[in-house]
Amino acid sequence: MITTTEKVILITGASRGIGAATALLAASRGYHVCVNYVKNEVAANAIVKRVEEGGGKAFACKADVGEEEQVKEMFRLIDLKLGPITALVNNAGTLEHQSKLEGISHERFLRTLKNNILGTFLCSKEAISRMSIRNGGNGGSIVNVSSIGSKTGSPGEYIDYAASKGAIDSFTTGLSKEVAPEGIRVNAVRPGFIYTDIHESGGEPGRIDRIKSTIPMLRGGNPEEVANAILWLLSEEASYTTGAFIDIAGGR
Ligand code: NAP
Repeated sequence: MITTTEKVILITGASRGIGAATALLAASRGYHVCVNYVKNEVAANAIVKRVEEGGGKAFACKADVGEEEQVKEMFRLIDLKLGPITALVNNAGTLEHQSKLEGISHERFLRTLKNNILGTFLCSKEAISRMSIRNGGNGGSIVNVSSIGSKTGSPGEYIDYAASKGAIDSFTTGLSKEVAPEGIRVNAVRPGFIYTDIHESGGEPGRIDRIKSTIPMLRGGNPEEVANAILWLLSEEASYTTGAFIDIAGGR
C-alpha cells in the first residue's frame, strides 16, 4: 500500500557509477527507488536486485531523459508503482572524447546539451508539478549533479560538457528561488575525478590516475563519496539549505 509518508525517489542514470551508488544508498535510507537508465538494462536490473535483496523496493525504467514523452511516461510509471515522488536526483549525463572547440561538431554540442541540461530541465518540471504544495503536493527535494568542470571550464578537453554543467549551476540557482515557496529545495553537487565509466566515454579511462598528483588530496574519489553528499542534501538534516553547491573534487 502506498502512503504519503513514504519516500519515493527518481535517480536518473542509476544503472552505473554515481547514480547506482546513490540508488543503493537511498534504498538503505528507506527510499523507494526508480532506477532510470537509457541503454544498459542488465546493469539497471542488477541494481534493482541489490535493492530488493536488502529488503527495499525499486524498479528499473528505461527512458532517455532528453526526450519529453519518455520522461512523462517514466513519471506516470513512478506514480503507479511507487506513489507520489518526494525526491529527484538529476544525475544522467554524458561526456564525449577530449577535443578542442575546433573538433566539436554542431551535432555533438546539441547531444551534450540534450543529455545534460535538457534532461535535468524536463525531469525537474515533471517532479515539481507533483511535489509543489501549490498543486496540493507535499513538497520535496531535488539534487542536480553538476561538475567541477562548470568552474574550470575544461579547456582543451570538453568545453561543451563544462558549458552544459555551467547551465546546470544557473538552473539550480534560479529554480531553487522559484520553488522555495512551494516547499521544494533544489541543490547541486559538483563532483570531479570520480572513478566511473565516464572517463572511458571521454576517451581516457586512466585519466584520474594521470592527473591525481595535481589534486590536493592526491587521489580520485569514489561514487559513494558523492552519494553521501547527495543523500545529505535530500535529507531533513539539510532542511534550511537550498540553492547550495557542494564541491566533491578532493580540494581542486
Ligand atoms: P557513467 O558511469 O558514465 O554513468 C552514466 C549514467 O547515465 C548511466 O546510468 C547511463 O545509462 C545514464 N545515461 C546517460 N545518458 C542518459 C540519458 N540520455 N537518459 C537516461 N540515462 C542516461 O557516469 P558517472 O561518472 O556516474 O556520472 C554521473 C553524473 O556525474 C553525470 O552527470 C556526470 O556528468 C557527473 N560527473 C561525473 C564525474 C566523474 O568524475 N565521474 C565528475 C563530474 C561530474 P546506461 O547505463 O543505460 O548507459
